[in-house]
Amino acid sequence: MFFVQLDTATTLMNLAQTPRVAIIGAGLTGLSIARRFVEAGIESQLFDKSRGVSGRMATRRLEMNGLTLRFDHGSPFLTPPQMQAIAEQMNSLAHPMPFDVATHSALGDESLICIADGMNQVGKWLASGLKIHLSQQVTEIVPSDGNRRWQIVTADDVVIDDFDWVVTTTPPRQAADILRLSNSAVVRTLNTIEPQGCWSLMIVTEPALPLSLVSDPGSEIIERVINENAKGRSSEHLGLCTVHAKRPWSQRHMGSSKADVQNAMIAALQAVGFDSQNTLHAQLHRWLYAGVVQPLGQPYLADMQRGLICAGDWCLGNDIDSALASADATAAKVIQSLL
Ligand SMILES: Cc1cc2nc3c(=O)[nH]c(=O)nc-3n(C[C@H](O)[C@H](O)[C@H](O)COP(=O)(O)OP(=O)(O)OC[C@H]3O[C@@H](n4cnc5c(N)ncnc54)[C@H](O)[C@@H]3O)c2cc1C
Repeated sequence: MFFVQLDTATTLMNLAQTPRVAIIGAGLTGLSIARRFVEAGIESQLFDKSRGVSGRMATRRLEMNGLTLRFDHGSPFLTPPQMQAIAEQMNSLAHPMPFDVATHSALGDESLICIADGMNQVGKWLASGLKIHLSQQVTEIVPSDGNRRWQIVTADDVVIDDFDWVVTTTPPRQAADILRLSNSAVVRTLNTIEPQGCWSLMIVTEPALPLSLVSDPGSEIIERVINENAKGRSSEHLGLCTVHAKRPWSQRHMGSSKADVQNAMIAALQAVGFDSQNTLHAQLHRWLYAGVVQPLGQPYLADMQRGLICAGDWCLGNDIDSALASADATAAKVIQSLL
């Protein structure tokens, strides 16, 4: 026999009434939504397929010559208003910022904020105190409790129930796949949104190349070169750069071999005068879902009857501003329907 001990009748009522929300994806959008839920007293659990949080605000570590080298191979920096919007989500007394930021003057008059320990520190900070299931790829959701709630099913066949709402913050095609059994009209719309990839090349040179934080080499293939050394990281005499290929070129070459893409990107860099004779190490990352060709044009996609809502930067654009705006509007919509 199974007993549950409850102190009072009130506890019973609270158990019945506390709304529960599953958030799929612990990138900037998912984490920001979860923080809004904390303020509103709504219980949420996040699920992410990766080993860490932060999504495309990602940092790759490389051990070399006894040094730990860091590359922000996704979003490389923040603008001051973006940093402020993120900081406002945190109760700075309970969760003080655990990293130092450095502000740089970059292209034109624009200021950019870099984090020496890596951009993924932002996601780790936002994740403080949240309930997060890492390395859990959600494969589908299935109705439960007489179609009133949802169960989350993961690739390891773990089933977690019962949620009043499911919020997806994955790229749209992945959301469509997760929701395919939901019978919701949102799936058709999700499938109309075209993904756009990006190739990101991380290189170590000796000595460091004399580059500013970010440069546009004026190439048909290369979008920008980011000098990771300019972020205040200790790499001694080694030079660290992350090179992003242009999105349309990347998308055309998403199916090409890594060797072909790497050779093409290095040749393009040499063609515009970047000396890569002294490249000690090169590593390529394929962002299959770096962004979308055409955003949805509204901050979320909701099925209010079924308790489903899809959010993410792709709703409004391909950037952090869009992720934050989507998160704000999505959280407000769910909170309004639950409270
Ligand atoms: C190369 C590159 C450069 C960029 N440069 C800039 C820039 O200069 N400025 C700027 O503003 N923005 C930039 N961005 C965009 C910025 O990184 C994104 O807008 C922002 O990080 C999006 O956050 P998100 O939470 O919406 O999505 P994501 O960060 O993608 O989060 C989605 C999460 O869902 C998880 N997930 C996916 N499928 C599943 C599943 N089945 N089960 C569980 N979890 C799942 C993923 O692991 C991921 O953590 C760049 C992005 C890239 C890739």
